Amino acid sequence: MVSKSEHIFRTGQDYISKYTNEILQKSPNNCLLPLTSKTTEDDFLEIGECNIKDLVEKFGSPLYILDEKTLRTSCKQYRDNFKLYYKGSSQVIYASKAWSCLSVVGIIATENLGFDVVSGGEFHTVQIAMSKLGYSEIEIANRVYFHGNNKSLDELELAIKANCNIVVDNWLELQNLVELGSCLPEKSIRILLRLTPGIECHTHEYIKTGHVNSKFGFNLNDFETVINYVIKQKVLNCRGLHSHIGSQIFEKQPHRDLAFILVKLLKKSQELGLTLSELNIGGGLGISYTSDDNPPSIEEWVKNVSESVMEACLDSNLSFPKLIAEPGRSLIGSAGVTAYTVGSRKEIPGLHTYLAIDGGMSDNPRPITYQSLYSILIGNKMSEKITETFIIAGKHCESGDIIIKDAQLPQTHTGDILVVMGTGAYNYSMASNYNRIPRPAAVLVNHGEANLIVRRETYDDLVKQDCLPQRLLPNCIL
Ligand SMILES: *Cc1c(COP(=O)(O)O)cnc(C)c1O
Repeated sequence: MVSKSEHIFRTGQDYISKYTNEILQKSPNNCLLPLTSKTTEDDFLEIGECNIKDLVEKFGSPLYILDEKTLRTSCKQYRDNFKLYYKGSSQVIYASKAWSCLSVVGIIATENLGFDVVSGGEFHTVQIAMSKLGYSEIEIANRVYFHGNNKSLDELELAIKANCNIVVDNWLELQNLVELGSCLPEKSIRILLRLTPGIECHTHEYIKTGHVNSKFGFNLNDFETVINYVIKQKVLNCRGLHSHIGSQIFEKQPHRDLAFILVKLLKKSQELGLTLSELNIGGGLGISYTSDDNPPSIEEWVKNVSESVMEACLDSNLSFPKLIAEPGRSLIGSAGVTAYTVGSRKEIPGLHTYLAIDGGMSDNPRPITYQSLYSILIGNKMSEKITETFIIAGKHCESGDIIIKDAQLPQTHTGDILVVMGTGAYNYSMASNYNRIPRPAAVLVNHGEANLIVRRETYDDLVKQDCLPQRLLPNCIL
């Protein structure tokens, strides 16, 4: 296998050739481009057998492009590998905050995954998508895990009424649930408890902390008190424990440590008189944004988590719980790209050349928010040699609206199609209307078919929520 860092990108096409190597292509989260990416004879990028030029002509620019095959492959890899490596029951649930819309939820539902929702709005999206696909209310409820560190009373009522799983974050929420459920039959509210295990992951570092500083979840010092409280509340049906330790994680040790910590707590809970049957290990597996990134494959991640949980259970003499994982980024990140059109070019002699695109921080706030890195290519010049270095700037009124600081590209001009890779997660879902820029359309591509899954916003959409009180209008109109 060619080591990643040895690979030199001389053309856009190199991003594709690199992953034609079967070993690398096995796990979507390790690929910079969707699995179906190819170069056409006339030198355009093609995804899902759709030519990028045709997509931009038909659906406009900027455009989010989502490859169905890559998304389904990731779902299948998570599902199949849990079946292969974990000798108990398992459920993969999609952290829908990564990209929540009807079609994405629909595809993932048909792949038999469940959903992590963090708000009434994300829950509503799952309810609408799944019921349109013919799933029953019970099926929907069983597949949904409702998260959040400050769920409103309305959200809690919604969750109770739907009878989905609620991942309880804190004391206030426990008390609110007990109050809201006071007239309900015994054990009618299904909950998991979210814990802060003293493991923190930043992108490339991993810290185990004795005391914990996160806004999420119960601290371990409170564990015994929480369990004793929960046991006394007849309406609560506490099924298990949950923890999510971070995102874009490349190491395996944190989840292994987490498995051991959580299994010990399952044991402790049993000793206190509450037997729990579910263990939710969270998400967090990283993806490749640049050729320097080398995350574990989905298979390696699932194997590590499964083996760690089983080992810990054998150590603690516990039967294997239902194991739940909730990946977001690694399920959908590499399935998406964003196509932009190149606009103005500004050369500062002796310094930099800026290339401006027709989007930026409103459709991808990750660079300005987290200094995230991305890879790009020119979708209509796949085999042209890389000769220039640019700063790729967005069109918003912020100097920090820069997508990439040192983009290596072929000669690039106004009208070229610039493709940013790995934008399937946390792009559409974090998009805003900053500068009153309408949010882009999104298309789903597969086998030469391209379907709109999110309509491009119009100027009228932008003022749709605005209200103009009568008293602001000139008197003559009154
Ligand atoms: C964000 C989040 C996830 C998914 O994280 P990824 O890094 O995208 O896999 C899972 N669970 C919870 C509770 C989260 O907040």
